[in-house]
Amino acid sequence: MIDTDVLVIGAGPTGLFCVHQLGIIGLKCEVVDNLDKIGGQCIELYPDKPIYDIPAIPVCTGEELTNNLIKQIKPFKTNFHLSDRVEEVKKDKNNWITKTSKGKEFKSSSIIIAGGVGSFEPRKFPVKECEKFEGKQILYSIKDKNVFKNKTVSIFGGGDSALDWAIELSIDSKVQLIHRRDEFRGAQASIDKVKELSKEGKIELLTKYQLKSVDGDSKIKSISVKHDDGTVKKIETNYVLGFFGLIMKLGPIVNWGLNLDKKHIPVDTEKFETNQQGIFAIGDICTYPGKLKLILSGFHEGALAARGCFKYARPDETLRFEFTTTSKSVHDRLGVKKND
Ligand SMILES: Cc1cc2nc3c(=O)[nH]c(=O)nc-3n(C[C@H](O)[C@H](O)[C@H](O)COP(=O)(O)OP(=O)(O)OC[C@H]3O[C@@H](n4cnc5c(N)ncnc54)[C@H](O)[C@@H]3O)c2cc1C
Repeated sequence: MIDTDVLVIGAGPTGLFCVHQLGIIGLKCEVVDNLDKIGGQCIELYPDKPIYDIPAIPVCTGEELTNNLIKQIKPFKTNFHLSDRVEEVKKDKNNWITKTSKGKEFKSSSIIIAGGVGSFEPRKFPVKECEKFEGKQILYSIKDKNVFKNKTVSIFGGGDSALDWAIELSIDSKVQLIHRRDEFRGAQASIDKVKELSKEGKIELLTKYQLKSVDGDSKIKSISVKHDDGTVKKIETNYVLGFFGLIMKLGPIVNWGLNLDKKHIPVDTEKFETNQQGIFAIGDICTYPGKLKLILSGFHEGALAARGCFKYARPDETLRFEFTTTSKSVHDRLGVKKND
């Protein structure tokens, strides 16, 4: 059981800045995110795109914003629990007990939900039998590419992930790249490379094909793919990889006893607290009159929610308002030296 003041759910821009606000008022927190990286939508959906409305930063990309937020919270040495999803939230006297999909348990006096539009999940094959092999031979992300060495790998998809992995795995695996259309959506350089490797016989390119069925008992033996013209092709394979992008699902949040309004969590605008005492919601996931789904709104909401957590974590203390420019205790928490 990990004991902390606040559990932050979501490592998007809102969750990250909230870690800073918790840190400067002296509260400890842990952060859990379903994704394998920090940054939420900024890193998953638009890392290279320019953002023009972050106060005092005329322009920065999604990735640059994320990197700067990570740099800003460095003094607090916060633990991030990535590729892990908060599944269960339960009250235990004055604390909340939270369980994740990887079996981790947290005890905290408050929870801040900065869950955006919910957890990102991979879009999966629509073929029913795929479930049986999921996580074994049917994969939607790659953790260790070495398992594919000298094996046959059937990669489905037409975007950058499918193209990049087809190129990379073709070095020491037999690769088929299977796409339901003739055109690919990825970077031109990757498309050209795949076509070149296909000409050299290093990647077998199958376009206008979709997965029809999977054959095998405990292990996949072969798959059948169907062409637009109705013909079916059987392929003997060891691994099937699907890269069809991500979908956003509110996920387990719906089961935590919170009031919901069309997939959003209503909050007050004083502390951004939900209908459950000690559970706060900030960023894209919260709703209130006038809510703007912008990063700058998430920053403001995080600042107030962090202060709302204080009374639960330190019931016998009063939180003093302090400026970061002049506060000695804030400087100590940030590790600022006298001449900095
Ligand atoms: C293409 C595009 C361009 C944009 N441009 C701008 C712009 O110019 N300016 C601007 O201000 N905004 C812009 N936005 C909106 C901005 O990205 C969002 O407002 C912002 O990302 C919201 O931040 P967040 O931290 O609330 O949520 P998110 O960034 O969505 O992060 C939420 C995180 O919570 C995690 N999560 C959810 N549920 C769970 C769970 N149960 N367990 C564990 N983790 C969970 C998710 O995996 C995710 O990483 C843009 C959005 C898009 C898609």
